[in-house]
Amino acid sequence: MTTVLNAEAIGAPTQLMIAGRWMDASDGRTFEVDDPATGEVIAFVADASVDDGLAAVSAAAAALPAWSATPPRQRAELLRRTFELMTQRADDFARLIVRENGKALTDARGEVAYAAEFFRWYAEEAVRAEGHVQTAPAGTNRILVLRQPIGVSVLITPWNFPAAMATRKIGPALAAGCTVVLKPASDTPLTALAMGALLAEAGVPAGVVNVLPSRRSGPVVTAMLHDPRVRKLSFTGSTEVGRGLLQQAADCVVNCSMELGGNAPFVVFDDADLESAVAGAMVAKMRNGGEACTAANRFLVQRGIAGAFAGRLTEAMGALRVGPGLEEGVQLGPLINAAGREKVESLVAGAVREGARLTVGGTAPDGPGFFYPPTVLVDVPADAAILREEVFGPVAPVVVFDTEEEAVALANDTEFGLVAYVYTRDLQRGLRFSEALESGMVGLNRALVSDPAAPFGGVKQSGLGREGGHDGLLEFMESKYIAVTW
Ligand code: NAP
Repeated sequence: MTTVLNAEAIGAPTQLMIAGRWMDASDGRTFEVDDPATGEVIAFVADASVDDGLAAVSAAAAALPAWSATPPRQRAELLRRTFELMTQRADDFARLIVRENGKALTDARGEVAYAAEFFRWYAEEAVRAEGHVQTAPAGTNRILVLRQPIGVSVLITPWNFPAAMATRKIGPALAAGCTVVLKPASDTPLTALAMGALLAEAGVPAGVVNVLPSRRSGPVVTAMLHDPRVRKLSFTGSTEVGRGLLQQAADCVVNCSMELGGNAPFVVFDDADLESAVAGAMVAKMRNGGEACTAANRFLVQRGIAGAFAGRLTEAMGALRVGPGLEEGVQLGPLINAAGREKVESLVAGAVREGARLTVGGTAPDGPGFFYPPTVLVDVPADAAILREEVFGPVAPVVVFDTEEEAVALANDTEFGLVAYVYTRDLQRGLRFSEALESGMVGLNRALVSDPAAPFGGVKQSGLGREGGHDGLLEFMESKYIAVTW
């Protein structure tokens, strides 16, 4: 297979990858990919049509019987080989991510290491798809349960982690014996295309992974979800788009895993260690420049420590170096695009109108690129819009609370439930509070929860199902029950 490189040699293919071949869109359309640090076009990428979507499903369906019959150990070794190749090329991947996403190089390096780990973890899980056997309660027969691959899977990923959101789906899908069509976000298709090339180089057979960038996401995905050969949708993105896809998936009763939006509370009790709470706040808020579903969206701080915490957070945020992600020493790159920046600007302006006070940041700089400075807001009223919506930017609103009961009520006062963070030195309180939180994950005196070995996912309108860990493998498998008399 030959990889067609973009003329600007940014190091990624720019065509569709279907059935092991690189090809233009059936109607020849392309779309632009921009560098968020400059607003300049860095590549033109093939824009898949509905016909291309259905061709990719055909390729995945044709590859399914042989792939699902491939011994788990062989599938595992291909995933392991992909992990090794990705680790060897980590710097190339990181630079490509910065070009199309804008994040700081250190964040991109962190993402690549995290992304590659999904290949390693699922190489290990591929050989552990255990079923079970038991005696029926009546004693009449045995209950035998096998795990079988669910089938052709459509994987849809967002722009904020262009590598990790793809590997978190491809790894378990391939380990389970499924074949896939990956539709990356159209702001960041290049990393996904480079990943397709990497999997092919590792030896994954043609048609097992198909990569389908498209600006026509709506019609292309609708057509795929109405093709009865598609049995699984694994989506990561906004709750709004996820809701619509769940409705569509209902028509053919397609199995869905949904990783949707978040509104993470970061709760600091009076007895917390101030140093580690501030360091944690910086990680939970600023990992990926605030453009993470796990980003701390609201800081709920007990009155006794609130002044000191806000002061230290303001200092730390104000000290960050902002600039183009590839520049040495830069800690915060631009936001993804103009719309992303406008949303952040309008939420901050709204909060100030509602009575909040800026202690640092709050004004976007002039010049090219979609930059927004690290920003802290204090005295934020409890009903401010910024506390209800996903900010997706480097903005930290601080709210003061008095009692534990009040903190639980504030933390749970959202339709989202992805992750929450709690800082306290009282372990009993920490665990009690963690249990009371309506979220799929909790960071207790820890600001980073993402781990390929752990079940990642949300409750309420943050999603359905889990990615990572053994749970992530089972999302791509069906249980087959055989009632046996022997
Ligand atoms: P988005 O607008 O929902 O897009 C996500 C993906 O869906 C993209 O590939 C997009 O393609 C596609 N899409 C958009 N409209 C579609 C439609 N009508 N039919 C089918 N596909 C469609 O989300 P985003 O702005 O890329 O990502 C940010 C969101 O992702 C945030 O809400 C964040 O919290 C969430 N997220 C969640 C997790 C998690 O694990 N829970 C992780 C990361 C991000 P186009 O780019 O072509 O529009």
